[in-house]
Order: sequence, then C-alpha cells, then structure tokens
Amino acid sequence: VNPIPDDRESDSTASSDGLDDQRPSPRLFDAVVEQPAAVAQLLAAAVRPVHAYLVVGSLDLGGRELARGFAAALLCPHGGCARCETCRRVLAGVHPDVVDVERAGAALSVGDAAEVVRIAQRKPIEAGGQVVVVADLHLARLSAPVLLKTLEEPPGPTVFVLLADMVPPDLATVASRCIRVDLRPVPQGELAAWLVAQGFTPDLAHTVAGASGGNPSRARLLAEDPEFSARQALWRSVPSRLDGTGSAAGALAAELLAAAEQAAGPVRERHRLEIEQRNEDAEATGVRTPMREIQERHRREDRRQRTDELRAGLGVLAGEYRDRLAAQADVSGAHAGPGTEAAAARARQLVQAVSFIETLAEELVRNPNETLQLEALLVRLSSVPG
Ligand SMILES: [Zn+2]
Repeated sequence: VNPIPDDRESDSTASSDGLDDQRPSPRLFDAVVEQPAAVAQLLAAAVRPVHAYLVVGSLDLGGRELARGFAAALLCPHGGCARCETCRRVLAGVHPDVVDVERAGAALSVGDAAEVVRIAQRKPIEAGGQVVVVADLHLARLSAPVLLKTLEEPPGPTVFVLLADMVPPDLATVASRCIRVDLRPVPQGELAAWLVAQGFTPDLAHTVAGASGGNPSRARLLAEDPEFSARQALWRSVPSRLDGTGSAAGALAAELLAAAEQAAGPVRERHRLEIEQRNEDAEATGVRTPMREIQERHRREDRRQRTDELRAGLGVLAGEYRDRLAAQADVSGAHAGPGTEAAAARARQLVQAVSFIETLAEELVRNPNETLQLEALLVRLSSVPG
C-alpha cells in the first residue's frame, strides 16, 4: 500500500528530511532512555504491526514513553515523522486515538478489562486506527480471560500495547497472544553517561547511577536532589552510631525513615507539575483524563519511591559493613597470631550484618512495613561493634 521508493533503499539519508518518509523516525523514542533493543524492535514492527504487544519491565524503564513513540509511528499520516501535529500530540499524551487505561484499584479488575474491550471496539476519532495502552498487566490475574477474548478476536484497527513489570504464570496465555518486547535495567556506565550528557558532573552521575538500580527515572530524581549525598552520609554513619542500646536503634530508625520521607520531595514536585500540565492540556484540547486515575498512579509512584529510597540506603549500609570486613581481612592477614580468633569472630559478625541488611532489602518489596522492619534490623546490628 505504501511502497518505499528505491532511493530510500540505496541512501537512507536522502529523504530523512521529507515528511513523506514512510519509515518511522527514531526521534519518536527520544524520551526512552537507553533501551536500544526495544526501540529497534518497535521501529521495525511499526511498518507492519500486529495487533498486540507486551512490553515487559518496570514502568520506570520507559514503557509508557515506548508505547507513545510506537503509537505515533502507527498513527502519523507520514509513517512516524516525529514532527507533525499528530506525532506531537501522541507524544504529549493528548491524542484522542491513543487511550491509556489505568487500573482503578489495587488490581486490574474485570471492570477495568471490560473498559479496555469497550474502548477497543470504538471507532477511531481522528486517525486511521487507535492504540490502547494498558498499564500493570501483571496485576490482571482475574481479568485475564476478558482481555484474552479481545486479543484473540481483535476488533478493527486497534493495536494494544500492554505494559507489565513481569509475566506471572497465570498470564502466560495472554502473553502468548502478543509480541513481547523486553526492557532492561540500564547498565551503570550508560546511565552515568546519560546523566553527564544532561549536565550533571561525572562524580554525581556515577554515584546516583550506582544507587538507582539501573532505573533512569530514579537516577534523575537523585541527581536533582540536593539532599542526596546528605542521606548517603546518614546511612554510612549508622554502624558507628549504634551503641548497643535499643533506644539508639529506635532513634536512628526514625531518623532514616524521616530522611526517606523527605526524599519524596522531588517526585511530589514532578507530580504537581504533571497535574498542572494536564489541566492546561485539557483546557487547550477539551480532552480530559480523569484525575482520580492520575492521583492513584501518583500514590503508587510515591510508594515505590519510598521503597527504592530505603533499598538504596540499605545498599549503602551493606557497603559500610563490607568495607569493614575488607579492612578486617587486611589486619588478620598482616598479624596472624593470638588475635586471630577474635578477628575471625568479628569477621563472622560483619558477614552476618551484611546478610541481615540484604534480607531486609529483599523483604521490603514484598512486605513494606518499613518502620518495624528497619527498627528490628538496627537492633540486630547493634550487637556488631561499629
Ligand atoms: Zn508525524
């Protein structure tokens, strides 16, 4: 239907400035940080799309931005030019034929899935097709059968982009009806380079890249956060401030939690700006996203930010005990003799301290009762001489 002229085959730059270029522009994916494999896969897929894609990986890795770039490639009358009004509006999240479906409650319910089906059967409003983006598919255990039916009998010109943190076994059938696109945590070096390109100093970029778990959204928040190094210093001070008493452990836990709470400042500011922007867009276009959904998402992001912050702090703390362990090994190696047994006992304590910390870091994700867990950890660590 849209044959690609021969000159484009022989010289890919010849028509790159023309709006008649039928290949999608990689610039549609400028907002996606360091996911070259996923971007290449969707650039290729946009030329002859199937009806469902499943993007797997934490939302913070850019699933939403990836979905928008892909939607622009599909709906743009020029094949994804990244410059026309359609591309601009799709990328800004205000095109009526790109519909974001957000869950209303803790799971993606049967009601949410029915809404997906209803939207999918609608006729496109402006473009030749529509794109339905469904977030948190991993929480669709009960509603999967409803979605499956629609995915198996796709209505007209609708392309689904399903976003999931992971694929639990009970969603394997839904996943099998989709082309899978994987997002990966960004390696520390690439993440640091990305931050440096945005004007952050190499030292800061390297430190926050290490503390972000390969997550660009979190790395950027940390880099913009003037209190970041103060919080790192606070976590590093823990071993020397534990004096063996429960009261010291309790006070320190409260201080660490307060710091984690304060760390939510930048993400809350970002939320405030998003709501402001949404209100302006709604004024300009008449398309209104229900605020309740946005507020729900903000609450989830706020929660995730806190967990990420505590896990990063625990990582710093584990590093402190590892450093002590390494210093201990040096000392023991240099002075084999009467002190060896005491040194070995201390080394065992330090190894155990690291293991306590790492266990809590894992448990925080499943059962985020931070206050009690952090206090219990510090009480345990109190028996390890700082
Ligand atoms: Zn365009």
